[in-house]
Amino acid sequence: MNSSMEQVFNFIDQHATAYQKEKDLPYLESLLETTESWLDGHIQPAAEVGKEDIRKAIQLAVLKGMKEHVQPHHQMTPDALGLLVGYLVELFVKQEKFTLMDPALGTGNLMLTIMNYLDGRITGTGVEIDDLLIRLAASAADLVEQPVTFYRQDALQPLLIDPVDAVVSDLPVGYYPDEEIAATFELKAEEGMSYAHHLFIEQAMKHTVDGGYLFFVVPKALFESPQAGELHAFLKKTAYIQSVMELPDTLFKNSAHAKGILVLQKKKEGVKAPKEVLLARVPNMSNPTTMSKFFSQVSTWFKENKQ
Ligand code: SAM
Repeated sequence: MNSSMEQVFNFIDQHATAYQKEKDLPYLESLLETTESWLDGHIQPAAEVGKEDIRKAIQLAVLKGMKEHVQPHHQMTPDALGLLVGYLVELFVKQEKFTLMDPALGTGNLMLTIMNYLDGRITGTGVEIDDLLIRLAASAADLVEQPVTFYRQDALQPLLIDPVDAVVSDLPVGYYPDEEIAATFELKAEEGMSYAHHLFIEQAMKHTVDGGYLFFVVPKALFESPQAGELHAFLKKTAYIQSVMELPDTLFKNSAHAKGILVLQKKKEGVKAPKEVLLARVPNMSNPTTMSKFFSQVSTWFKENKQ
């Protein structure tokens, strides 16, 4: 742990624990009280702190709260993965300033990791159905001074959001319960319930500008499910697949929840498909030698296919 981040975490944790005892609240709610009182100027850390120290300290506190109150559907996106997606966003999105949406924002950790990494370049939009998580994300965004507009709603219902230049999202995986809404999507299941992650891909595509990029964290078996054929046909019609990456199992506690990254470009007149799709296996992220080989594989592919 770096010491400045440790100090911010201790500051947050002490206040959150005190609120928790005083008001008999779950830790995540007392964490929200803490970040909000910090924003209101009622409490302050002892010294000036940087954006990344604040983001990481809040992330640690959220992880602590999630351990107490297991929320299997709200798994926060791990840092290493956020940084990898940030690297891909930086590589593909060439505008100096651009808009970025995460339709499954959660605690905002993925979005804010990327916004801090490309500091000053991104205006964000986040959609999240869970009230507590979106409020935590909102206070974290204010504390790290990143411009994000928040929508607390079901992201699969109509969104009053202008098309964005890029989308990032660690998609919620599983069945989507609202069959009436699902029926409005091309990727609805022919029979039975539809996959939320497929509907999210369609919704995100609809809200991206032509030629814009989409970066999804997806289940590893995305293209092996019984509804994979329909997803393939939809992607072929609307986008160019840029890359499919397999993430190392070590990133996930349970290998049944293993994931990958899917990078798409929405079709646009004059934009061509890459000569070949970048199929890559991301190595163990804590090994600098294999990671450096991986980055050079990606950058060679980019030069040969995108420039
Ligand atoms: N990237 C996030 C982070 O760093 O905290 C984690 C995203 S988590 C894997 C998926 C999120 O999707 C959860 O927070 C869940 O509440 C949200 N979600 C699930 N279904 C949703 C829906 N229909 N509309 C909006 N958000 C939804």
